[in-house]
Amino acid sequence: MPIRYIDQIKDLKNKRIFIRVDFNVPQDDKGTITEDTRIAGAVPTIRYAVEQGAKIVLASHLGRPKGEKNAKYTMAPAAKRLSELLGLKVKQAPDCFGPEVSGLLDAMKPGDVVMLENVRFYPGEEKNDMAFAKQLANGCEIYVNDAFAVSHRAHASVEAITKCIPTIAAGFLMRNEMTFFDKAMRNPVRPLVAILGGAKVSGKLEVLQTLVNKVDKVVIGGGMAFTFLKALGYSVGKSLVEDELILTAKRIMDKAKKRGVSFYLPVDCVVANAFEATATNFITTVQEIPEGWMALDIGPASATLFAETLRDAKTVIWNGPMGVFEMDAFARGTFSVAEAVGNCYATTIIGGGDTDAAVRKAGVDSKVSYISTGGGAFLELLEGKILPGVKALDIKMKK
Ligand code: AMP
Repeated sequence: MPIRYIDQIKDLKNKRIFIRVDFNVPQDDKGTITEDTRIAGAVPTIRYAVEQGAKIVLASHLGRPKGEKNAKYTMAPAAKRLSELLGLKVKQAPDCFGPEVSGLLDAMKPGDVVMLENVRFYPGEEKNDMAFAKQLANGCEIYVNDAFAVSHRAHASVEAITKCIPTIAAGFLMRNEMTFFDKAMRNPVRPLVAILGGAKVSGKLEVLQTLVNKVDKVVIGGGMAFTFLKALGYSVGKSLVEDELILTAKRIMDKAKKRGVSFYLPVDCVVANAFEATATNFITTVQEIPEGWMALDIGPASATLFAETLRDAKTVIWNGPMGVFEMDAFARGTFSVAEAVGNCYATTIIGGGDTDAAVRKAGVDSKVSYISTGGGAFLELLEGKILPGVKALDIKMKK
């Protein structure tokens, strides 16, 4: 698909440029940003536009304000953090459009940056509403999407707006994401190992259906492993299971077997008598999970086994924690795998907020090749889908 990147646009000077970023970052109770990777990720694109003398209008969503204005979800803290990272003042607009916003944009000088308010304050955003997209476009001559993490959503500021602005392009963060993904999936150096974990089997089974056709090894941990173990006939106590997906899990394992893909499941786990940080817990084999107990982490033997699978890996993709890593008692499996991923001699690509957090907490973030800013978008790419936000950037379709 032919996509233009921001540095392929000839003259940005004095042009009003709309950059869709994803500043949907975690905040504490006081509204302080606790993790700013996504903001930092968009800085190269914004800085480039500043240096080229463009007038930059930024837009993002934050949280789930459900189509209504809500001060809790203002973009102001993100604009402030961006100001610090860029080393120049980013003005926070009071709204997404309207006379006051237009006044602010009309007064911009080359190199100025204005952050619009949360686009999800309007229901038109999630409905991909063209009228709302036109209001957002507000005299912009160039549209740039640098919001990879939301590009799996056909929302107004991601999709409809590309039809309202004459020139469209992708930013540098988007280029990085797509390049690493291509490297890992389209033409991978093998063995290619996929590690999947987390709680929601439903979201990841489709991904696995595609992945088993491409990878050499699959490693499953986290809550999702127990649907597979139940499919193999194990009693898994009160561990997380999606019963309606047992048949699909079986089919995936059959497909893996037919293709000669090694399929690794946990051999032991940490079981607890409640879903609580202080619950009584012990290590057991997956064949011996007691009735009424739940497995909340992989055990040490599984951690060693999983690390062993990575020894000869040349490409590794990882999405989803191996256990309830938010609670110390059930975090060891995830951290062991994070260390193994960090230390293996392979191109390693991490996707999803939890996995990102786990890799940072384990202190191996500087050792992995690439940490994607996308969770859902990353999974949809793995599934083989074309993201609506990327499709909308196809310059062939722009007539
Ligand atoms: P997901 O959004 O599907 O990637 O799931 C991430 C969540 O899975 C994290 O918050 C973990 O606490 C949770 N998780 C991982 N392993 C387990 C498990 N064995 N049982 C319940 N939840 C789990």
